[in-house]
Amino acid sequence: SIPRSDVHSPEPATAEEGAAAPIAVEVRDVHKWYGAHRVLDGVDLTVRAGEVTVVIGPSGSGKSTLLRVINHLEQPQLGHVSLDGELVGVRWQRGRLRELSEHQILAQRRRIGFVFQDFNLFPHLTVLDNVAAAPVATGLLRKPEAQRLAHTLLGRVGLGEKADAYPRQLSGGQQQRVAIARALALRPGVILFDEPTSALDPELVGEVLAVIKDLAAEGTTLIVVTHEIAFAREVADRVVFMDGGRILEHGTPGEVLDHPQHPRTRAFLSRVL
Ligand code: ADP
Ligand code: MG
Repeated sequence: SIPRSDVHSPEPATAEEGAAAPIAVEVRDVHKWYGAHRVLDGVDLTVRAGEVTVVIGPSGSGKSTLLRVINHLEQPQLGHVSLDGELVGVRWQRGRLRELSEHQILAQRRRIGFVFQDFNLFPHLTVLDNVAAAPVATGLLRKPEAQRLAHTLLGRVGLGEKADAYPRQLSGGQQQRVAIARALALRPGVILFDEPTSALDPELVGEVLAVIKDLAAEGTTLIVVTHEIAFAREVADRVVFMDGGRILEHGTPGEVLDHPQHPRTRAFLSRVL
C-alpha cells in the first residue's frame, strides 16, 4: 500500500531549503475521535508563511475538523498544532496533557482568521460594524480607528459602498466578502477558509474566489478547504487530499490534481472534475 502523507518522495534537501519561508502552521500527528469514530487519524501538515494550501476530499473526511483543531475550536486527543512555532492549545507531553492558559489560547486565536461556509455575520450590525467589531472587542483598536480600518478593508473586497447596509440586504457573495474583510481586521497571520463558496449560487462564486486570489497574490498565508478544483490549480502552492481522517496525498497542484498517485484521489477527482 502507499504510505500515507508520503506518496511523493520527501522534499529534497537542496540549497533552496535554507531559504524556505518560516513555518506558519504545523500540525503533527493529530488524532481526534468521537467515541469509536476516528475523525482525524494521524494528520501531519506543514504550511509555510505566504503559502496557499488547498485541502480537498470527500464529505466527512475530516477537513472541517482539521481547520477547527488549527483554530482551537476543537482539541485533539493526541498530537499538537503550532502556530509560528508556538503550540496551540493542548499537547501531550511526557505522558500528560499540558494546557495553555485561556489568555494564551485567545492570543493565538486572534492570529488566525476563519471564514465559514455560511458567512456567520452579525445580523443586527451594519457591514461596517461587522468588520470593526473584533478589533474593538479585543482592545486592538479604538472605535474610530477600527472603523477607518473597516472602510479600507471593505474597499479592498469591493464593498466600499455597502458600509451602512445590513447583512440581509446583501447577496451571499457580498456577505462572504464582508466575512473576509472581517477576518482581515485582526491582521491574522493565517486565514482558514472552510468551503467559502459552497453556500453560494454559482454566479456568485467567482467574486469570492477573486478576493481570495488577491489575498494569495499579496502573500497572505491561506488554508482553503474547497471543491473548486480550477481555483486550486490556479492559486494553490500545495494541494492536500484527505480521506477517512488522513492525508492520503499532498503535493503541487500539478502532482495531486493532474497526476494523482492514490486510487482514492483519482476516484475523488473523477467525481468532482
Ligand atoms: P468534512 O469537513 O471533510 O466534511 P468533518 O470534519 O466535518 O468532515 O467531519 C468528519 C467526521 O466527523 C464526520 O463523519 C462527522 O460526522 C464527524 N464529526 C464531526 N464533528 C463531530 C462531533 N462534534 N461529534 C461527532 N462526530 C463529529
Ligand atoms: Mg466540512
